[in-house]
Amino acid sequence: MTDVRQAAMDHLWLHFAQVPTEGPMVIERGKGCEIWDSEGKRYLDALGGLFVTAIGHGRTDLADAAKKQAESMAFFPVWGTAHPPAARLAEKLASLAPGDMDRVFFTSGGSEAVESAWKLARQYFLAKGEPERMRVIARKSAYHGTTLGALAITSIPPIRDPFEPMLNGLVTHVSTTDQLHCQRCEGPCSLHAADEIEEAILAAGPQTVAAVFLEPVQNSGGCFVPMPGYWARVREICDKYGVLLVSDEVICAFGRLGTWFGGHKFDYVPDMITFAKAATSGYSPLGGVITRPFLADTLKASKDVVWHGLTFGGHPVSCAVALANIEALESEGIIDHVAKHEGMFREKLETLLDHPIVAEVRGAGYFYAIELMKDPAKGVAFTPDEGAALVAGLRPALLEHGLIARADGRGAPILQFSPPLIAGPDEFDEIVATSRKALDAVWR
Ligand code: PLP
Repeated sequence: MTDVRQAAMDHLWLHFAQVPTEGPMVIERGKGCEIWDSEGKRYLDALGGLFVTAIGHGRTDLADAAKKQAESMAFFPVWGTAHPPAARLAEKLASLAPGDMDRVFFTSGGSEAVESAWKLARQYFLAKGEPERMRVIARKSAYHGTTLGALAITSIPPIRDPFEPMLNGLVTHVSTTDQLHCQRCEGPCSLHAADEIEEAILAAGPQTVAAVFLEPVQNSGGCFVPMPGYWARVREICDKYGVLLVSDEVICAFGRLGTWFGGHKFDYVPDMITFAKAATSGYSPLGGVITRPFLADTLKASKDVVWHGLTFGGHPVSCAVALANIEALESEGIIDHVAKHEGMFREKLETLLDHPIVAEVRGAGYFYAIELMKDPAKGVAFTPDEGAALVAGLRPALLEHGLIARADGRGAPILQFSPPLIAGPDEFDEIVATSRKALDAVWR
């Protein structure tokens, strides 16, 4: 075992993993869509380092932007003061965000962004004289982060269960936009998944509900795409009851769907967008909340202090890197590249539908899942134990064939892909060919 694997085994807490009893896989370097481990094995990174590395690995321009900023001013907070990278990035994001969204609260990651949105909502309603509004509506099986506030919004039992007594009980979870298993309507979709949000608001008491948190395309459960009309209906419901609509775009923003933000893809303007991950393509940590003007206007009028802050929120180096990342995404036409190639990616993934256990390909942009079933033609799902065994087998099989993708069994078993946005036909072909090999190996 290499020294570094030994060090990881002996001293590193791995996230979402058992304490290691053998040296874990160590990823050492990356270039474009490829990464290499400490043993020199090459993999296609079809997950973009956890939905992060939009621009690809190994970009020296982003590293240079970090160096230049660190040399000029490595750190100063945005607690009551500003610095050029944060101000310029906020201005840039305001110009890219849908509708009239115009102000940014920076954090250092996605969970903090989600909690910050909730706290901003609370302060907004306090300033507006509606102190009862604290409750949140979100969707079942959705992931919105792990810190306690964000975890209260997350709805994945194994992640919540150990901490349930520490959560606040302020969140109601409603149906996803899963259409494969939905048996509600015989004819065209009734948008019941959106209507359930209204039912939940009414059940909680509209005067107590602060916000609805939804992803444009829900990651957990496997890239649930909204049905046509879903977002318009949700927007209408939120407006009807004075509830804030938060679009959690920690995964979906910055080109993942072939657009800057989810609202551009599905034609809506939320009241807040939470973002992180691809904002910097992972070259430095950053997250944040983009808000519509009425939120700041209300707090400006009340003269209330925003009682929330994070030392590293809006870190100068991260903001400078985000600016360089956005500049590259723009000047290299990377988001248009995704929009142009998403259909091809889908078509190639759909060639897997002839595999005996592939039931559905769903997603948008460069964000797809394939759902696995025991007998797709008859609609027979794997039992939970079978699903768990399948996923446990798929993970090493994918790695053996040199593919980083997500095999997930927290709902129906799925295989998920979210490659760097620079990927093209060669990468799609490799994803399909290696996935087929891994599926064959495990199914047999
Ligand atoms: N929200 C969504 C939709 C996410 O996918 C994630 C992480 O994957 C988070 C929030 C939490 O982000 P972070 O891991 O940066 O705290």
